[in-house]
Amino acid sequence: MSGSNSRLQAISAVTNYKPLSPPLNFSETPSSELFGSNVFGLAEMQKRLPKNVFKSLKRTIERGEKLDCSMADTVASAIKSWAIEKGATHYAHVFYPLTGLTAEKHDSFLAPDGSGGAVTEFSGSALIQGEPDASSFPSGGIRATFEARGYTAWDVTSPAYILENPNGTTLCIPTAFVSWTGEALDKKTPLLRSMQALNAQAQRILKLFGHNDGAMVSSTAGPEQEYFLIDRNFYFARPDLYTSGRTLFGAKPPKGQEFEDHYFGAIPERVLAFMLEAEREMFKLGIPIKTRHNEVAPAQYEIAPIFETANVATDHQQLTMITLRRVAEKYGMACLTHEKPFAGVNGSGKHVNWSMGSSTQGNMLDPGSTPHSNMQFLVVCAAVIRAVHKYASLLRAVVAHAGNDHRLGANEAPPAIISIFLGEQLADVFEQIKAGGAKSSKGKGMMNVGVDILPALPKDAGDRNRTSPFAFTGNRFEFRAVGSAQSIAGPLVAMNTIVAESLDFMATELEKATGGDAAKLPAAVQTLLKDIYDKHGAVVFNGDGYSDAWHQEAAKRGLPNLKTTIDALPTLRTPEVIALFEKYNVLSKRETESRMDIFLEQYVKTVNVEAKLVIEMSKTMIFPAAIRYQGELAVTCANLKAVGYTFDTNTLDKVTALVKDLQDSTAALEKVSSHHGGSSLLEEAQYYCTKIVPAMLAVRKAADELEGIVADDHWPLPTYQEMLFIK
Ligand code: ADP
Ligand code: MG
Repeated sequence: MSGSNSRLQAISAVTNYKPLSPPLNFSETPSSELFGSNVFGLAEMQKRLPKNVFKSLKRTIERGEKLDCSMADTVASAIKSWAIEKGATHYAHVFYPLTGLTAEKHDSFLAPDGSGGAVTEFSGSALIQGEPDASSFPSGGIRATFEARGYTAWDVTSPAYILENPNGTTLCIPTAFVSWTGEALDKKTPLLRSMQALNAQAQRILKLFGHNDGAMVSSTAGPEQEYFLIDRNFYFARPDLYTSGRTLFGAKPPKGQEFEDHYFGAIPERVLAFMLEAEREMFKLGIPIKTRHNEVAPAQYEIAPIFETANVATDHQQLTMITLRRVAEKYGMACLTHEKPFAGVNGSGKHVNWSMGSSTQGNMLDPGSTPHSNMQFLVVCAAVIRAVHKYASLLRAVVAHAGNDHRLGANEAPPAIISIFLGEQLADVFEQIKAGGAKSSKGKGMMNVGVDILPALPKDAGDRNRTSPFAFTGNRFEFRAVGSAQSIAGPLVAMNTIVAESLDFMATELEKATGGDAAKLPAAVQTLLKDIYDKHGAVVFNGDGYSDAWHQEAAKRGLPNLKTTIDALPTLRTPEVIALFEKYNVLSKRETESRMDIFLEQYVKTVNVEAKLVIEMSKTMIFPAAIRYQGELAVTCANLKAVGYTFDTNTLDKVTALVKDLQDSTAALEKVSSHHGGSSLLEEAQYYCTKIVPAMLAVRKAADELEGIVADDHWPLPTYQEMLFIK
């Protein structure tokens, strides 16, 4: 099929897609050799650094000891020669500003040698500290543009890596980004601070249980990334998609996901080719990608790594999103990470699996085979229950942004109510504790598969629950309300800090009750666990989180239900939250407040761009298509009438009415968009949420109805079925 408008041209281009040729030869280097080959990790450090320098760095990385800056020159020179061997010409401090994106400032290794030539240079100070102009990054009032100074500081715990490009490679150094007054302008600084806070409190708990070895307790994270892939020709035929990341128009297709034929289905050839190359790129960067599969919606997929410490997992997550987008282009596709690219079709989330552990303790949320006897596990688990109950609104706030508003509370995503799914076994143990003491665990029975040749499978004592925003999944908690495009740093900062606060509370109680006498510990733990479950058990809910009954029940239990970003963000201004972050040195009052302003501002900007797009597309694409069709119908009617036929004008009448709806609703949107909502940022954001978003939806309603009636060869926008099903 060929045609004149951008949509028809896109369809013709897509159907003529030719796979890359020749295909990449992946068997040349096995993945095991490739893994981490572009990373300056511990192994490379050991090879290239003097013993004492290596040991000192290793202590900082593994035990959280203070970084010894006197060795910076030695390390810099080793990294430089490694990078140059890998073809690097430039180095970049990579940082994570509050936009949630990844930022990089590149500098050349080359410096003039004074006699007309050049030498390669990379000093310790260039490694440790950079100074990008900070004025174009949001600071929420922390810094006025005239004091634009911002510093990037080397994060030794996240390894430097080489980023490849066909035209050269760049040494990338993960850094923290702070203002000249030392305030955090980024996502990494608070994350590192929150990990430090969690470690300090976890050590007190471990000490009570007789573990004094001082091995650092880190929070761990394994983020599952959901995304869509569509052909790039469709993508570029939709200004809404390439500008805002989601479709602002589009009628529901005749076929959606109702056949449930996509989830875990065979992966299409082009998509699999893309995945293989993307994964190889990530392997080189040391990202331990493990799982890939089709997701529920057509054209939706998921990728998940093996978990790592929260900081490294976060940097790797950012790289994962970048790599997916970059490699998709090579295969003629666009990777959509938006939370809701297609209305009425499943959205994308990022399930962040979270736990904590150390090299000697292992995973502290592993219940073992008899959880009732595993006191330490129960203490950590109770700390999480208490934390999530106490700070449910904060957890809601850290996943609040314009994109996620389309997903949270919709019928396939977790509700905006934060509750915990514990599973049958664990809930039972806590119920027993509440009733006076846990004596037994519901055993892990064997499950008979009913086919003799298959082995009996051990039955997981904890079932799965897909509807809970915060679920215990056997040896970790899975925070499912996180948006697919957002940085996982914010959610992890919140998790680490609220659990640190709970562990602090519990350690203090247990220290008091035992007075240093270990024999008193079991009774003290029993009392404390009962107390916590009495007070905070209300957050535990094992049922269907999508049901109306749960919304009513949750209200009865007093659990907050913050439906939109605008309802959720003000939590960041509450005295409890400010005090929490201050107490554990994660964020100062000013830093917390600045974040709320930045997030409100982002909300307003996002909706504002979408509103302008709706107006533009309505006027320049949809209206013209509609009136052309209207004209054709009118001419036909007139012609038929002229030769004596009466023509049924139903379609013409309908189109005419919808064109009027489209014009009126577009004019109404223009009108509300030209006003300002109020004097404060919050009022402005509220205005966008309550006035502009509904006005956009009204335009969409008229446009989507027109899509169902206007002649196909006039319709300018690739339809949902085309984007989701033509591969
Ligand atoms: P599912 O889709 O069934 O929830 P996946 O295998 O897709 O599971 O993802 C589970 C994620 O949880 C993986 O990234 C895995 O590494 C991670 N994970 C496992 N154990 C831990 C842990 N102790 N801490 C953090 N993440 C973990
Ligand atoms: Mg999964």
